[in-house]
Amino acid sequence: ATRPYDDANVFAKILRGEIPARRVYEDEFALAFYDIAPQAPVHLLVIPKGAYVSWDDFSARASEAEIAGFTRAIGHVAREHVGSGYRLLANTGSDAGQEVPHLHVHIFAGAPLGPMLA
Ligand code: 5GP
Repeated sequence: ATRPYDDANVFAKILRGEIPARRVYEDEFALAFYDIAPQAPVHLLVIPKGAYVSWDDFSARASEAEIAGFTRAIGHVAREHVGSGYRLLANTGSDAGQEVPHLHVHIFAGAPLGPMLA
């Protein structure tokens, strides 16, 4: 079961413009910005504009338009910021170590990344 969405989470505040972020892309469905604690030379986060706690919540509840729009935004941002490839990651739930309860997809790039990030 997914927790209820918490409007006070940090990415909700970034979406509302209440706290700053190094924004790189925005459209009707998605916002992308740099991670504050990068784990690769390029480390971006892409979040949907809708109130979804996680990938689990989003994939179950989002509309076709939101799913398509978010997916295309991730691809667009990755293409714009990436040289020879990239890695996508969506930590989902506490076992995966998800820290911020608003769906975010990490884009890691800018160097050979090795088999997996810890
Ligand atoms: P998670 O562990 O939930 O998959 O990832 C959360 C990510 O959000 C972490 O990589 C963390 O560095 C990043 N993060 C947390 N707070 C902020 C913030 O206020 N601004 C930005 N840009 N990134 C943040």
